[in-house]
Amino acid sequence: MSNYRIETACVQGGYTPGNGEPRQIPIVQSTTFKYASSEAMGKLFDLEASGYFYTRLQNPTNDYVAAKLAQLEGGTAAMLTSSGQAANFYAIFNIANCGDHVVSCSTIYGGTFNLFSVTMAKMGIEFTFVSPDCTDEELEAAFRPNTKAVFGETIANPALTVLDIEKFAGAAHAHGVPLIIDNTFATPVNCRPIEWGCDIVTHSTTKYMDGHGCAVGGAIIDSGKFDWMAHADKFPGLCTPDDSYHGITYAEKFGKEGAFITKCTAQLMRDFGSIQSPQHAFYLNLGLESLHVRMPRHCENGQAVAEFLASHPKVEKVNYCGLPGDKYYELAQKYLPNGSCGVVSFELKGGRAAAEAFMGKLKLAAIETHVADARTCCLNPATSTHRQMTDEQLAAAGIPAGLVRMSCGLESKYDLIEDIKQALEAVD
Ligand SMILES: *Cc1c(COP(=O)(O)O)cnc(C)c1O
Repeated sequence: MSNYRIETACVQGGYTPGNGEPRQIPIVQSTTFKYASSEAMGKLFDLEASGYFYTRLQNPTNDYVAAKLAQLEGGTAAMLTSSGQAANFYAIFNIANCGDHVVSCSTIYGGTFNLFSVTMAKMGIEFTFVSPDCTDEELEAAFRPNTKAVFGETIANPALTVLDIEKFAGAAHAHGVPLIIDNTFATPVNCRPIEWGCDIVTHSTTKYMDGHGCAVGGAIIDSGKFDWMAHADKFPGLCTPDDSYHGITYAEKFGKEGAFITKCTAQLMRDFGSIQSPQHAFYLNLGLESLHVRMPRHCENGQAVAEFLASHPKVEKVNYCGLPGDKYYELAQKYLPNGSCGVVSFELKGGRAAAEAFMGKLKLAAIETHVADARTCCLNPATSTHRQMTDEQLAAAGIPAGLVRMSCGLESKYDLIEDIKQALEAVD
């Protein structure tokens, strides 16, 4: 399967039925699995043999879909989580513990910012936030001896900044730590961060991957490229024996290709239990089957809406990296040559009040805390998703109070533009 193009992997990756087996992936709706002897089961607990024993850790349906995601991103191993939040938490907590430090881009999803700056800070993990546009010197200055990872988003939600992946990967590797990228908005159809030096990819599969607004979920994909043993002093969790698993050393037993995901499953999924339900994994897989068909349409609609808004006299500013003249146009040409995503953000000349009035007049685009769905939706981040942030934090994250984020769905671009046009005419 691994030699096929992304379109084929979207449809058929991860699961190859044998004779007489279901063509569609089976939903293994079972919490537990039967064994003939305690000895056979004991081998699973010792990670001596691979197999299923309890769905809190692993389930075949989830594993088919995780294998597809590994193929789509060009990684060696993957796991599903109950949400994107769980994916980002696990990806960091798998290698950074109390007393450790992480360098993160400041333009990241509001929920992730809160997870890092509040909840993980309480756990004793410190984050230094840097602008995605920082100089090499500023990036360098953010590292400390106890830094364990660098984090960013390919296309930031909702700031729509584009990450210079090679620059951030170079800095991370110079300090012997992995680069973790949340690739939710681009999806592997538009960017495969591993090809640019990223080590671990995360997703909120709730967004384009599901694509129909029906199932919250997340995923972590390991490139299998980071050499944990070469930096064993920094990553004792991977490079020294795990007493909670009979003295296994993950990086030795599972190698570069498997250590990260095996540890994350065996320890974090075991202890925190944020598993995706097999039913949700099935929905996710339905979404993945058409991801490569849907993404170009989302991008086409995003581009058309961005161009219309940019030419409208009531619009102050449009952020969309597909617009020549956008601050991230050049980076997008490099990392996202086939398109970025369907999300466009913009400020109206009338500020926050005009933005609210405009949103109230839209007929097709619903006001929703969501993005990346077949149906067009919009939101004012400052009063919703980013409500917990101060004005200074909002400014650092590139989100003015009057910003409207519009996620262009799969409807006709002509209907979307007419809807926006009538709503703009109705505001002063
Ligand atoms: C939505 C989102 C998340 C959080 O994902 P959930 O599935 O809602 O938990 C994380 N990162 C990005 C970029 C997102 O858009």
